[in-house]
Amino acid sequence: MTEEIYDIAIIGGGPVGMFAAFYAGLRNTKVILIESLATLGGQVTALYPEKTLLDVAGFAGVTGENFIKALNEQLALFPVEIRTSTTVDDVKEHNNLFIISTSNHQKIVSKTIIIATGKGAFEPRKMQIAGVDDLVGQGVHYFVKNKEDFRNRDVAIVGGGDSAVDMATMLNNVTQSTTIIHRRNHFRAMEQSVQKLSESTVIQETPKRVIEVSKKYNGQLELTLSHVKDNQMINTITVDDLIVSYGFISESKTIQSWQVKPQQENFSFNVNQKMQTNIPGVFSIGDANHYDGKSDLIAVGFGEAPIAVNAAIRHFDPHRGGPGHSSSLSI
Ligand SMILES: Cc1cc2nc3c(=O)[nH]c(=O)nc-3n(C[C@H](O)[C@H](O)[C@H](O)COP(=O)(O)OP(=O)(O)OC[C@H]3O[C@@H](n4cnc5c(N)ncnc54)[C@H](O)[C@@H]3O)c2cc1C
Repeated sequence: MTEEIYDIAIIGGGPVGMFAAFYAGLRNTKVILIESLATLGGQVTALYPEKTLLDVAGFAGVTGENFIKALNEQLALFPVEIRTSTTVDDVKEHNNLFIISTSNHQKIVSKTIIIATGKGAFEPRKMQIAGVDDLVGQGVHYFVKNKEDFRNRDVAIVGGGDSAVDMATMLNNVTQSTTIIHRRNHFRAMEQSVQKLSESTVIQETPKRVIEVSKKYNGQLELTLSHVKDNQMINTITVDDLIVSYGFISESKTIQSWQVKPQQENFSFNVNQKMQTNIPGVFSIGDANHYDGKSDLIAVGFGEAPIAVNAAIRHFDPHRGGPGHSSSLSI
């Protein structure tokens, strides 16, 4: 049996990999999209399905879940082979083809590769207070999957970045009370989000840090708050839930052991203006890549996706024209 050879293999089914796969389908290539997790959507699906995205072109505001739903609908317009629950363990080069090995023992052969693995597998940065991790599932949370879980509850959120601030204003619509605790007076979030927070009824406990979390006899959590400088106790607050929003750390160990491993800087692949890495035929887009001026935003990754796909097509078929405009196609 002759082996199937794909034109383009996209590794990583986050929003950027999904859009690249759609665009590769639009350009009539034989494309495969490979994703570690059981569902597509990357960070959006795994980390913030309930959050409202405001900075994606064409949406005046869309929840993470609905945004990925729309991407899935777009992806279904053209034939794209999709393999979920499949981690790429290794990539080798042989006779100008790339041989991809996966965790579930598949071998996938492709003329080009687009790496859209984000920052690799991600996990939340933990709260370094003894006993807190034992309370996960008993009031302490690192993920918010469904804001309805917090309806009519007293909720505290620790953190001062975009996700903490957005989470506070989002949950405040359903909670009984929402408190945000941050060790600085200023939040490190988008100006619009900080303004929204200051105009809301969210209680701000700043600049303070949580030094102790204990479970009360009635199941609620008592948080002891202190000065940042000397850890001297200031006050305690009692809540039903504590959401830790200190951001995420990612690991890209799997990718480090690939035989075809393009040049990296801080675990991101260096690319040129065509999104090509230092290895011909290997491209990288989205949070996985790096160049001067790069921003890790979906809108930026969406711009990179067609650039990479068109460059990949020129790599295996230098005579092929295009790209044309999608408006000239009849679907
Ligand atoms: C809390 C939070 C809020 C955010 N809010 C916004 C926002 O409002 N607007 C905005 O533009 N951006 C936002 N971002 C950033 C945005 O989510 C990322 O820029 C975006 O997800 C990058 O998409 P991606 O497809 O490049 O990577 P990812 O979404 O990280 O997807 C990469 C995918 O690759 C898969 N993968 C990794 N390694 C392998 C492997 N070896 N084999 C197979 N699959 C693999 C992963 O499982 C993952 O699904 C936010 C991020 C966070 C954490």
